[in-house]
Amino acid sequence: MLMRSFLIPTIVLSLILVSSNFAAEQDGADFDYNERGPEHWSQLDAKYKLCKDGERQSPINFITSIDLAIKLPNVNFIKQNTPNVKFPTISMKKEGHATKFLPQQLIGSSFDSVRYIFNQVHFHTPSEHRFDGIHTDLEAHFVFEDSVTKKYSVIGVLYEVDCAVGSSSFFDSIIKLYNQDPNAKDNVPVDINSEVFSHIKEVYKYFGSLTTPNCTEDVTWWVVNKPLLISTSQLVKLRKHIGFNSRPTQPRNGRKVPPVENK
Ligand SMILES: [Zn+2]
Repeated sequence: MLMRSFLIPTIVLSLILVSSNFAAEQDGADFDYNERGPEHWSQLDAKYKLCKDGERQSPINFITSIDLAIKLPNVNFIKQNTPNVKFPTISMKKEGHATKFLPQQLIGSSFDSVRYIFNQVHFHTPSEHRFDGIHTDLEAHFVFEDSVTKKYSVIGVLYEVDCAVGSSSFFDSIIKLYNQDPNAKDNVPVDINSEVFSHIKEVYKYFGSLTTPNCTEDVTWWVVNKPLLISTSQLVKLRKHIGFNSRPTQPRNGRKVPPVENK
């Protein structure tokens, strides 16, 4: 019997008044999911070497009968210097050609005593991670960056369509962002905490990589162990914007979920 208690670290997000333009997932040749797709990424740019040679790549397939889920750390959005004041929504804006959405402030955070910056959120259809070999309809990636080491932590939220579920204000905001004129000055308030994170009970934590070039490793993943639900009409609208952008699952190479820490 495994009796192991997991500490629940508190993620504290604070507001820093700097305009953000630093989503650092890609810094090289253009890539896509067709002719310049995942099997060719490593040939497109020397910087993309890890996409082929990496040993701890993402996404992975979770084996629900073996992998153990742990509690998601608490996520609180708060303004810097006013830690008792919760910050309910994040003002976001579309970045360039609508692939990801950036907070219009740098949002600091701490996971396990590490200070992170909330970098950006973006989406994949279908999901990249799988449960027992099965994709779900959509996956959201909330990307955090360690402000000192520049290592990433990503909260991955898988969604599956449910015709009985209503539209969520979170996806209303995201669809509004996708429809935003690239030159628009308006920010869209996005309620990530109460609309997304508060619905997550447990996550699969593991060490992997970014799922797009440069395929950087040393990424800590926190992926929901059960998909959340999305309405049919919102999924249809999102699919229209996103198209197919799901990297195939990568070899586990002996990685444990959750990882064996400090080894
Ligand atoms: Zn992603």
